[in-house]
Amino acid sequence: MKCPIVVAFTSGDNDRPNASHDQYSDFIVFFKRIGNKIILVYGGITIAALLTLIWFYAQQQERSILEQNELTMGKLARSVTSGLHAIMLAGYADVAKDYASRLQQVPDILDFKIVRANGLEAFLDNTTIEKVNARIGDEEFFPRDDEDKRQIFEHDDPVLEQAFATQDMVPIYTTGDDGVGQLVFVAPIMPTKQCSRCHGIDERARGYVKLTTSLDSVERAIEKSQRNALIVSVLMLAGILFVTTLFVIRTVVRPIRSVTDAMVHAAKGNLDQAVPILGQDEISSMASSFNAMTSELKTTYVGLESEQDKLNTIILSAREGIVVTNSQGEVVLTNPSVQEFLGKTGSQIASEGFLHIFDDDEAMLGYLNDDSDDPIELEYNDRILSVKVARIYSDDGHLSGSSALIRDITEEKRFEQQLIRISTTDGLTDLYNRRFLNKTLESELARARRYGHPLSVLMFDVDHFKKFNDTHGHDQGDRVLQSIGQTMRDVVRAVDFPCRYGGEEFLIILPDTGHDGSLVLGERLRQQVESTLVDGLQVTISIGIATFPLADFTTYEAMIESADGALYEAKDGGRNCVRHAQRELLLEP
Ligand code: GH3
Ligand code: MG
Ligand code: MG
Repeated sequence: MKCPIVVAFTSGDNDRPNASHDQYSDFIVFFKRIGNKIILVYGGITIAALLTLIWFYAQQQERSILEQNELTMGKLARSVTSGLHAIMLAGYADVAKDYASRLQQVPDILDFKIVRANGLEAFLDNTTIEKVNARIGDEEFFPRDDEDKRQIFEHDDPVLEQAFATQDMVPIYTTGDDGVGQLVFVAPIMPTKQCSRCHGIDERARGYVKLTTSLDSVERAIEKSQRNALIVSVLMLAGILFVTTLFVIRTVVRPIRSVTDAMVHAAKGNLDQAVPILGQDEISSMASSFNAMTSELKTTYVGLESEQDKLNTIILSAREGIVVTNSQGEVVLTNPSVQEFLGKTGSQIASEGFLHIFDDDEAMLGYLNDDSDDPIELEYNDRILSVKVARIYSDDGHLSGSSALIRDITEEKRFEQQLIRISTTDGLTDLYNRRFLNKTLESELARARRYGHPLSVLMFDVDHFKKFNDTHGHDQGDRVLQSIGQTMRDVVRAVDFPCRYGGEEFLIILPDTGHDGSLVLGERLRQQVESTLVDGLQVTISIGIATFPLADFTTYEAMIESADGALYEAKDGGRNCVRHAQRELLLEP
């Protein structure tokens, strides 16, 4: 079964986001996805780890290549030094210079210098030749024609000191003028016995060899090694990320997406969703719990749906009109009864709003704010309606809406009024009956006493009615009584109460009427009855009047008694006349 008219309102215009906003949103959504988060974090950590590894590997490679180069070049330097030693010892000191210049043609050897202990380059001047010749005593070595002096090291250069102290080569890393790295070896030429034959005994080193090698090819090798390491790392990284992404998609993203998709469908009311359970991990357990939950929900939902069907049937067929709003005051439910009572369609009621149900917003607001439990009665659309308007609160005290329950009581009211009329009037004359008379006179007397207003009671009796009945029949007598009733109604004011006291005796309660007014009315009534022929027949009446406060009546019975006394006087006075109990005033016919 469908719901009754349920009106839903959408508020505001939909903002159309621009393209850049879309892209920004897509960007944000991308980073919110769990799979992308895992891949991003994992990828970041992997990149950082690989970069660290590459850095360590490159450092290691560089150190290793440099050490290897140092070892190789060190061997070369040692072999050069010992070769030089051999040449010198053989007495071919001249050849040493050539040896040095030839060495410079070896690849990666930039310079080769033989330096004396004082830091001056050897084989450029005649100092040593002269010393040796003077020592040997015979001119062994020919002095040079052109001398030169080049200071390669300071005489106290710490490098020379270190080489002498360790009696081993000292490697020095430096940078050439062209910006290319250089590895310089400084090796001591230590004095031996054989040396002392020409040079004498000297405790210092004989000299030093300075071999300068280029690191150009070494640096290129390092660069190449680093580049290769980088390429391998990038390939490894791509491979790791590819495998990781596949793994994350298969084991995390897809299972989560299938659960979330199912949740989205479930949220839209489709509970026929079952998520496939692919393994035994936490996500599978979540999927299994979700399936159990949707199954439970479906059972509950079906039960609720059936309950709602029943409720809808009740609401639709209810003879009471029902209007319900949501917490925003928007009409969300109306039933056919209310539409009939108000003469409006459901959508008209919804669009006009809850407060406008009876076309009077202010009054409706008043009903809403009225805490009384009593329904309000009002006339609308030619009907008398009983309306109960209330606000609806949830268990936690929040306003969840408002409701109006409307009952058509037109017929009820008609019956009620009929009942009241029947219980308060006389069937023959349609005048108020004795019970009503007593009650009303009692309250009117009380009111007159409280406010000090005058109150009169006019009582009359048909003259010789027994005889009339006997002569014309009881039915004719009844028609006369009916005619008198009509005459009473014609003569009295709207505030007066014309009553049948009993038989052919009548009484009129005249609120706010004193002595004179009551006499005027009594006389007018007497004349009217006398002049009204019923079926061509005439009757007269005798009237007695009592007025408060001319006499201080404390009970209504006393007042009736007083009027009855005056009536008796009227009868006694010849009938068809008016007598007042409190004054000896007589208006003759
Ligand atoms: P009086 O002038 O002294 O009043 O004389 P009367 O004949 O009217 O005397 P009384 O008031 O005692 O008469 C009452 C008569 O009224 C008795 C009865 O026949 C008649 N009567 C009382 N009730 C009705 C009624 O409902 N219908 C008819 N037709 N007659 C009634
Ligand atoms: Mg009588
Ligand atoms: Mg009578």
